Amino acid sequence: MNSAPNAPSSLKTAPPTGISGIPEMLLSFSLKARNSFGFEVLAEHAYSITHADQISPVIQSIEATGLPWRVLGGGSNVILPPLLPGTTLLMDIAGQAITQQDASGAVVSVGAGVNWHDFVIWTLDQSLPGLENLALIPGTVGAAPIQNIGAYGVEVGEYIQSIEAYDCHSKTMVNYPASECAFTYRNSIFKANPNRYIITHVHFYLPAVWTPRLHYVDLATLFTSDHVPTAEEVMVAVCKIRNRKLPDPKLIGNAGSFFQNPIVEQSQYLHLLDQFPELVSYPEGDAHEGKRKLAAGWMIDRCGFKGMRAGAVGVYQNQALVLVNHGGGTADSVLALAKTIQDKVQETFGVALAIEPIRY
Ligand SMILES: Cc1cc2nc3c(=O)[nH]c(=O)nc-3n(C[C@H](O)[C@H](O)[C@H](O)COP(=O)(O)OP(=O)(O)OC[C@H]3O[C@@H](n4cnc5c(N)ncnc54)[C@H](O)[C@@H]3O)c2cc1C
Repeated sequence: MNSAPNAPSSLKTAPPTGISGIPEMLLSFSLKARNSFGFEVLAEHAYSITHADQISPVIQSIEATGLPWRVLGGGSNVILPPLLPGTTLLMDIAGQAITQQDASGAVVSVGAGVNWHDFVIWTLDQSLPGLENLALIPGTVGAAPIQNIGAYGVEVGEYIQSIEAYDCHSKTMVNYPASECAFTYRNSIFKANPNRYIITHVHFYLPAVWTPRLHYVDLATLFTSDHVPTAEEVMVAVCKIRNRKLPDPKLIGNAGSFFQNPIVEQSQYLHLLDQFPELVSYPEGDAHEGKRKLAAGWMIDRCGFKGMRAGAVGVYQNQALVLVNHGGGTADSVLALAKTIQDKVQETFGVALAIEPIRY
């Protein structure tokens, strides 16, 4: 069993509320270690949620106050202000187990608070390949479906069987099969309906028949054509590429890709290609639609931002898609830099860049 990523550490605690099932309330809880930008952030109130049955009474008590609230996993895809008002639910539900297995594959059920990368390693230790291309993505298992995390040609939605969540509208636990989760590029019903679903467990289906997925050039070039790599070898290769390209949030604060790769119609793509023959892009969706996903990092680099610094924040020197906090940065300073980049990319390419991390 794996542990949840962040047990609450410090702090003054409020007197017991007397409502059964509600965990201890943490006051002025520091989220500096729980947001990968490393911003100085205080949550006015926080609860560490370690069991699904704590959610209903916590939501009831929050709704009675009318104050704002939100859910936080590992904080690796958020931009947090210095003070988070109201209540923050820290998703710390632990546990992972193979719940079904036969000759065709295995179902694995995992608590929302389990660390994503630890979980990927665990699946490989159980001889259950499939998730290796998604190794080293920071954050929790419960957040993975929110933006349908993806890397190196694989999206997590492809391996999800169903999702258990507390539905804040119906006030019940729901269990959605993947087919009802509307997984698309960096999106899902959970992201499209903020503060409606609180994911408690994710159930994965990992088929027994496995072949490595190496169609991403970076990955393919690490292997020779006469050797079919194992899932472990693919995972090691993915980690190697990521370590080369992406800053470790423990060393330099960041939230991974700060902008989504924009998807454009074929006509706009061809027009851009005419102006910028070296434009980097990938096919998107059904081939007959002809849509293209443009490499936002390439466009930002082409505008001259790679490695630039604006006070405490800047653009990562090895990957222009990543904005970083060199120390002492804030949500406002990183958003001001983002706006400068968005304006320049719009002016140069006529393309709008959408910010990927969620702003609070
Ligand atoms: C260095 C780095 C590299 C990255 N690389 C990638 C990558 O390759 N591909 C990719 O897709 N992403 C990448 N990311 C982004 C990030 O790792 C993922 O989005 C990850 O899934 C976020 O998990 P988290 O637990 O930190 O979520 P958080 O940042 O805590 O939360 C993100 C959102 O999900 C919501 N949420 C969290 N948990 C739950 C829950 N249990 N129920 C309901 N809502 C919830 C929050 O309210 C918030 O809106 C990267 C980030 C970093 C820092």
